[in-house]
Amino acid sequence: MPSAASSAGAGWAGVGPQLAGRLAKLDIRGDRDLALHLPLRYEDETRLVAIADAPEGLPVQVEGVVEACEVRLRPRRQLVARVADASGGLTVRLLHFHPSQAKQLEPGGRLRLFGEIRAGFFGAEMVHPRMRPVAEGESLPEALTPIYPTTAGLAQSALKKLIGRALAHLPEEDLLPEVQAEPCGLPTFSAALRFLHAPPPGTPLAELEARSHPAWQRIKFEELLVQQLSLRRAHAARRAKNAPRLVGDGSLTGPLRASLPFSLTGAQERAVGEIAGELAAPHPMQRLLQGDVGSGKTIVAALAMLQAAEAGWQAALMAPTEILAEQHYLKLAAWLTPLGIDVVWLSGSQKKKARAEMVARLESGTAHLAVGTHALITEQVAFPRLGLAVVDEQHRFGVRQRVALRDKGAEGSAPHLLMMSATPIPRTLAMSYYADLDVSVLDELPPGRSPVVTKLVADSRRDEVVARLRDACMAGQQAYWVCPLIEESETLELQTALDTHAALAAALPELRVGLVHGRLKAAEKTATMAAFAAGEIHLLVATTVIEVGVDVPNASLMVIEHAERFGLAQLHQLRGRVGRGAAASACILLYAGPLSENGRGRLKAIFEHTDGFAIAREDLRLRGPGEFVGARQSGVPLLRYADLEADADLIDAARTLAERLLREDPARATAVIERWQGGRETLLRA
Ligand code: ADP
Ligand code: MG
Repeated sequence: MPSAASSAGAGWAGVGPQLAGRLAKLDIRGDRDLALHLPLRYEDETRLVAIADAPEGLPVQVEGVVEACEVRLRPRRQLVARVADASGGLTVRLLHFHPSQAKQLEPGGRLRLFGEIRAGFFGAEMVHPRMRPVAEGESLPEALTPIYPTTAGLAQSALKKLIGRALAHLPEEDLLPEVQAEPCGLPTFSAALRFLHAPPPGTPLAELEARSHPAWQRIKFEELLVQQLSLRRAHAARRAKNAPRLVGDGSLTGPLRASLPFSLTGAQERAVGEIAGELAAPHPMQRLLQGDVGSGKTIVAALAMLQAAEAGWQAALMAPTEILAEQHYLKLAAWLTPLGIDVVWLSGSQKKKARAEMVARLESGTAHLAVGTHALITEQVAFPRLGLAVVDEQHRFGVRQRVALRDKGAEGSAPHLLMMSATPIPRTLAMSYYADLDVSVLDELPPGRSPVVTKLVADSRRDEVVARLRDACMAGQQAYWVCPLIEESETLELQTALDTHAALAAALPELRVGLVHGRLKAAEKTATMAAFAAGEIHLLVATTVIEVGVDVPNASLMVIEHAERFGLAQLHQLRGRVGRGAAASACILLYAGPLSENGRGRLKAIFEHTDGFAIAREDLRLRGPGEFVGARQSGVPLLRYADLEADADLIDAARTLAERLLREDPARATAVIERWQGGRETLLRA
């Protein structure tokens, strides 16, 4: 196989440094990448249409002779020509043009024009068609014309030539003969690529564009297969490491269960069982605990951490915001301190002395459990016996941070890793992007939750909403008021929160109105949250700092201002802050028009669905996996061609074949990965 990966700017056979630099912008670093650089769409230049028969508004190719051409100066400078064939004529209009184009349009010249015909003032007209001078009777291309994604300074024609050369070098050998066989019956890899770069005339454009053609299926299948293979490999590599066996004896988990005012749901029991089994094994667990907002992930994590303590190891729980980390700390300390477990708290805003004391307790091994923010992964913090690392709201952290926590493990052994997420992941996404993790799902909410009623209210009816808040709070309920998200400016967002707080406090003198935002000192935040939890504050005005994890069961009303600005997952998270107690709860989404199509789609989805998985599916549909995968993106190559929704069947098939290849033919698995990824390193480490 011709040379593969070479670094940007270095060039490779027949490609100079400047061209190589441009290709690198398209992530093309060798012949292999060129062959896999597939067209965005196609144009059909294999057929000519008589001008008189050409349909309006569809791309067509016509051929004719220039009859007249002039530069007009009114209403603006433009070139207007008349081109005719035996059936009729049309006007060609160029609103800006080069001298070379004027030359092509000199009367008497024969041209092929590709473009859309529109009805102009003087009859049929093409504005800026693609023009090519031809001789009479010149043959037509034998394939559809591919249109490639490209970059500045790299013409379609140049790219096409390079790709053609790369295809000529493509080995015929197919690594996946099983895909050709029935029932798949898909073409070989090289045949599929050759086809897609130059589909023969008559290939239905719709099948190409929808990527449902067998050639597309073949390429997408292999892309998904490569993703499965590399993720499963990463999983196996991590699995091969040593980890402490955390065999519990129930001496701590038993008493904790006995002290709880509730019993675990079936889903929680199942997750606890899956986790307990893996913790007792000598290889690091890599598990994602997925459960909708309020499904009770914390207690599952607490039981896992106690199992570590029973086995004489330490555990750490990291959360993305100070408010959430502190809530976890308070809850865990309340649950576990009575059992003789020493829980330490670490945060960035902590006083030096307090922190030093916590770090010392961890280092000496007297503390079993640490709860905190990113502060946990700073250099000063050492865990002599870290057996289990738990990351809450894992999608808020980057790969690097998760790795940093894992690397706190003792020499020669990796801690078990439990990641938690309240953003439900649609099945197809879980099967593809998360194929390197084992997943436990909490698909059941604890009993006694009251469903949250969602209302969409136009911003113009804000006064009514405020009046309703007053009545509810006077009747003993508590409420959140979430301030608008202002992505462009944190300062502006803060100012808006201050203004909203002042306005609501003035409008509701009979209520105690509190405020939390990201810029408050930790102690102020804590005091406010505690006062709200204790019922001393009726109405809590907040920025999205309350988005994750906050758990105040008495709060039953939430107003979200400018709800159209929030993402779907965010709205779902926010709404999950209410409906945690027995009282009937409501979430009022205030919106301001005009709504973008996407904004309308999000509001509709959040209004119609309460189930996190349904919302996640909508979100995936509206946004695509790129944003969804979020911080994981840095570690996982995104799919270029396959579509998680349309290609769910292919994902299933790819997964089955990946498992078989890894088991029976690892060398072939490596070769398939290699032809897609070349020497490129993938960052699959956490
Ligand atoms: P999340 O999955 O969103 O992190 P939490 O762990 O914060 O959910 O749990 C939400 C609330 O439900 C907490 O107040 C918790 O104590 C309570 N809870 C958890 N499990 C149960 C259960 N099985 N029965 C009743 N309440 C539960
Ligand atoms: Mg939580």
